[in-house]
Amino acid sequence: MNYNISITKVEKSRVDHLDFNNIPLGTTFTDHMFICDYENGKWINPRIVPMGMIPTHPAAMALHYGQAIFEGMKAYKDTEGEPMLFRPEQNASRLNKSADRMGMPNFPEDLFVEGLKELVSLEHNWIPPQQGSALYLRPFMYADEPFIGMRAATHYKFIIMASPAGPFFSKRIKLWAEKQFIRAASGGTGEAKAAGNYAAAIRPTELAKSKGYDQVLWLDAAEHKYIQEVGTMNIFFKINGEFITPELDGSVLHGITRASVIDMLSAMNYSVTERKITIDEIKEASTNGTLEEAFGTGTAVGIAYIQDIGLEGETIHVSDESPVGLEVNDTLNAIKTGQLEDKFGWMLKTRKELV
Ligand SMILES: *Cc1c(COP(=O)(O)O)cnc(C)c1O
Repeated sequence: MNYNISITKVEKSRVDHLDFNNIPLGTTFTDHMFICDYENGKWINPRIVPMGMIPTHPAAMALHYGQAIFEGMKAYKDTEGEPMLFRPEQNASRLNKSADRMGMPNFPEDLFVEGLKELVSLEHNWIPPQQGSALYLRPFMYADEPFIGMRAATHYKFIIMASPAGPFFSKRIKLWAEKQFIRAASGGTGEAKAAGNYAAAIRPTELAKSKGYDQVLWLDAAEHKYIQEVGTMNIFFKINGEFITPELDGSVLHGITRASVIDMLSAMNYSVTERKITIDEIKEASTNGTLEEAFGTGTAVGIAYIQDIGLEGETIHVSDESPVGLEVNDTLNAIKTGQLEDKFGWMLKTRKELV
């Protein structure tokens, strides 16, 4: 479908004020944002406008009942300086899966990709050229109908913001295996990238940090035994030469990095198994020396190596030999920046000044 995205440009870009070698985390936004409104059962008025405040009624339903979902992705520059997006259609379809679960309307997937392309093209000067840096993109949808009462809202906004992000220095992280709090239960909203899931994780994460850990390792809700995932990352283990990642059982976010890493490991002839895996199995593998590596995967960090896991006062150590994940991370970054052939067909090129 052909959409007419109207564009109102800023008079003067703020990009000159940004020090690309020193980008503050999550506080800098580009000049423009993409917005679309949902009214009377239709998405209307797709537009790119200067980044700014949005008037919000205090009764806006997202603020009270939490109909709010989001996506996270990055734009990179290829070797010619042209902007590229990594598997944006995957984010578009995942947003709609989240929307389905939260009783929100679907957003047209071609308009999702079109809006991203237009915004990224317009903001191409904001894509940091430094290795490891990228333009973080945050598409999200929330209920902005003013109404007190429990039902699906009838008015929503879909917005895409962009924020330059510096390189992530990957030190090995420490995880806290959480036996008290849970992130997701069978039949719950764990599979949706829904705002409320992250609100519920804040307190447990703060407690884990106060104990000296970086992130929470979530276990299943019923038995506190099966590993689910980490903060905003899926998790992989290498035991005895084989990669294992928790299966997508409805409580685990369908990570696009996860899916890509599975494809890459398979292409490298490693065996990758998606199955239930218990924290005790990891402890056992660490003790008998077969736990060869463990890492988290997600858009924000790529691949984050795990150093050890705290479990009820004990520490499970992860070996740092044979880091296949590092090789996968380098390959993935090289594909994203056009330095390596895109064999999997993951990259979507967009042009500078598409608009
Ligand atoms: C976003 C997210 C991930 C990672 O997904 P990617 O598509 O790889 O960025 C994993 N777990 C949770 C809970 C997330 O919110």
